[in-house]
Amino acid sequence: MRLIFLGPPGSGKGTQAAKLIEKVQVAHISTGDILRENVKLGTALGLKAKEYMDAGKLVPDDLIIEMMRQRLQKDDCSRGFILDGFPRTVAQAEALEKMLNELDMKLDAVILFKVSDEVVVERLSGRRGCRQCGAIYHIRFNPSLKGDSCQICGGELYQRDDDREEVIRKRLDVYHSQTAPLVGYYGKRGLLLEVDAGRSSDEVLKTILDAPWGRSE
Ligand code: ADP
Ligand code: ZN
Repeated sequence: MRLIFLGPPGSGKGTQAAKLIEKVQVAHISTGDILRENVKLGTALGLKAKEYMDAGKLVPDDLIIEMMRQRLQKDDCSRGFILDGFPRTVAQAEALEKMLNELDMKLDAVILFKVSDEVVVERLSGRRGCRQCGAIYHIRFNPSLKGDSCQICGGELYQRDDDREEVIRKRLDVYHSQTAPLVGYYGKRGLLLEVDAGRSSDEVLKTILDAPWGRSE
């Protein structure tokens, strides 16, 4: 199973990917997570990426493409993958197409997570993550049973710098101008499956698993 998850920030791509990999043995590749890990470790990539991320802008294509070229060659990708947050520009999509051809891999589908900007702002401004284990909560929709601490590991919960409302609005602008053109790009290739991401996450998961490739593992 080789899927791309496409959709605005806060459309639930990461949540669905985490649920899906409990059911099928594929790699979950989140460019946002890889970048944040690099920022945390202070790598050369992390140092270059941080200013863009904090401003809600896209990290330059050449950095992202090189990072993904390396990631897609790792062993765990041989069983398939979910790309969560990549590609995000037409240039990235074109580079991915080349890389997959070289690796002799074919995409099964691109899942488009459709959701309104208002829902995105409400979801992201309330999102909190655990510093220790990465668990994700929402102050209203899914609060931790332990308040400001993680109910799984007791770690400290925090808000991402880019989940502040003004940065969320900026990320949405970037999505509409730079990433939305990929809907046409993958539509032309007959790969697009739209899901209503405003529904409950169990319903969204079911739609993905019921598609032809969902049970192929
Ligand atoms: P979200 O999808 O919620 O905006 P991510 O965790 O996917 O957040 O990404 C966080 C930030 O990392 C983005 O705002 C952007 O700066 C950077 N980023 C992630 N993936 C890409 C990508 N494919 N191309 C460029 N920048 C990216
Ligand atoms: Zn935790």
